Amino acid sequence: MQALTNRSKVVAKKEMTFIEKLYLPAIFSGMIITFKHFFRRKPTIKYPEQIRPFSGVYRGQHVLKRDEIGAERCTACGLCAVACPAEAITMTSAERKPGEEGLYREEKYAATYEINMLRCIFCGDCEDACPKEAIFLTDRKVDSLYTRKEFVYGKNILVESKENPISLVKRQTPQVKEFKHHVEFAHNQTYDKQKKVKNSSH
Ligand code: SF4
Ligand code: SF4
Repeated sequence: MQALTNRSKVVAKKEMTFIEKLYLPAIFSGMIITFKHFFRRKPTIKYPEQIRPFSGVYRGQHVLKRDEIGAERCTACGLCAVACPAEAITMTSAERKPGEEGLYREEKYAATYEINMLRCIFCGDCEDACPKEAIFLTDRKVDSLYTRKEFVYGKNILVESKENPISLVKRQTPQVKEFKHHVEFAHNQTYDKQKKVKNSSH
């Protein structure tokens, strides 16, 4: 075949020496490498019987948080979907009706909200982009499932239950707490009923 560049080299096939033809030196040096590995610390563990400790800020399954009165914090602004490099997030919005203040914190809320866990790369960009502190990654692992459809998580899985709220205490590192004290980032705080700003309570 005609070469496209002149970088190719013709490599001469070298004749093997008598020692090389015996293969014994090559076998011996291979065995030395094998024996060396017997005495080295093993980098592998017997998962799942053994589990390595996870970092406190491990990025696992997402949660859609509720506010201090149990209303959904997400206002379906779409910033998380825009920030998502994997285009894993989709949602539709709806307008809150009178009497639904206890269900949805803002006048607009996510009627549907889905994350495709097969697309997600757990980068955390959705969490960073959210102006309402509505979405967080947690230390929970995504389950093993059998069909692709099951990996599309909807609100029924993502929104935390009122009975068992998901604690984010471990993720509130000193740096995160310090960040929240800056008044210019006031959108990271919640409003109480009297419309007074107070610290976030998740
Ligand atoms: S963690 Fe990253 S990839 Fe996953 S949904 Fe959020 S932004 Fe998208
Ligand atoms: S989770 Fe946050 S960024 Fe995403 S739509 Fe809801 S409020 Fe907006």
